[in-house]
Amino acid sequence: MSEKEALLAAIDRDRDEIIEFLRGFIRAKSPNPPGNTQEAARYVSEFLDAEGLDYRIIAPNNEFPNVVASFAGPQPQRHLVLNGHIDVFPVDPVGWTKDPWAGEMIDGKIYGRGACDMKAGTSASIFTYRYLHRIRGKLKGRLTLTCVSDEETLGPWGARYLLENCPEVRGDCMLSAEPSGKNAIRFGEKGLLWVTFNVRRPGAHGSYTHKSESAIKVASHIIADLEALTNIPPNLPSDVEQAIRNAAPAVEEIWGNGAANIIPKVTLNIGVIAGGLKVNMIPSHCRFEVDIRIPVGIDKDEIVTALNRIVSRYPEVTFEENHFTAPAFCDPYGEMSELLRDNVKQLSDVATTPIVSLAATDARLWRYRKIPAYIYGTPPVGIASHDEHVSIDDYLHVVRTHVLSAYDYLSRDEPPRVRDSISGNHN
Ligand SMILES: [Zn+2]
Repeated sequence: MSEKEALLAAIDRDRDEIIEFLRGFIRAKSPNPPGNTQEAARYVSEFLDAEGLDYRIIAPNNEFPNVVASFAGPQPQRHLVLNGHIDVFPVDPVGWTKDPWAGEMIDGKIYGRGACDMKAGTSASIFTYRYLHRIRGKLKGRLTLTCVSDEETLGPWGARYLLENCPEVRGDCMLSAEPSGKNAIRFGEKGLLWVTFNVRRPGAHGSYTHKSESAIKVASHIIADLEALTNIPPNLPSDVEQAIRNAAPAVEEIWGNGAANIIPKVTLNIGVIAGGLKVNMIPSHCRFEVDIRIPVGIDKDEIVTALNRIVSRYPEVTFEENHFTAPAFCDPYGEMSELLRDNVKQLSDVATTPIVSLAATDARLWRYRKIPAYIYGTPPVGIASHDEHVSIDDYLHVVRTHVLSAYDYLSRDEPPRVRDSISGNHN
């Protein structure tokens, strides 16, 4: 029996344990906000304790602890990091037909908040760590596990803190099991820029339209002008551009019709608007908030320049930035991407496609540092919504894929392969 066959046999043997671990993990509530992950971190550390695996709790904020474990094989060749978050979205009880915190198992599915985003994924990382630790004497490099808090709010206490303050968690490559879908390997993510606009005009009686422009009308003109942002073309290495084009069918399978069209484009959502006091008064103030999603290959500066150009056409209009996350990507055909592709093909005969995704994850933080970071996880079902669940088959498939791919990565003799020509946005 080969080493990989032995690993698969162990996963089959431990099937019930792997399933029960996830169910218990869901019961260890960790909604964010408020974001307290103490119970979930305790759950992970108790498992590591029982397995005799060393770890550290790194908690720059007491309520947001991170669990970090690491071991090295006999030859220090390469360093793989398995990262998963332990916080989950909060629950709006409307629409739930199952208890979001019970980890119920019904018809081959496990239900609950975080079932797919991403306690199934973080469980896959934890089991990958456990299985590879058992055969560490045969591995060529180091494996690090980071179970982090504070991902759902893109907050400062989780992966961001670790990458800034603990260089030992950076590694040569990061692998995460955030949701992706069986046919997709995520190599990049769009960024976002949230901006608030304020329009001021003198205002007047509603019949005196010769006295003052309406702040609401000015806002509507600006909103129409903002559509120009969607025409800014991305600038990408040609094979990344090609990969994004090739990914269109896979992207639409995951996110529905029209998703492929917006992956390489700036999109705009006017999420909040407020202005005016009374129907017969010309409004003197209008405020609106815009969620701008930035594709890979466009810098924030280009967006801000375009915003300044638009606003300069309107006196007494200001805008301010509220939040920014740069888009990021790595080599769509990098080493780990190929290992995932080959293992998925062997395990399930499914062909995978490297894709850029719509929403941001912690993977971007590794990519900002030019460390390739890939995501392969379960399909996104009910994320941030109701009746979130994961099928047990999909969950076990992700466990197998991660165990085998991490094993392959840490079994190679040569140093990690990184193409310097490919790098993410770093602004
Ligand atoms: Zn997530």
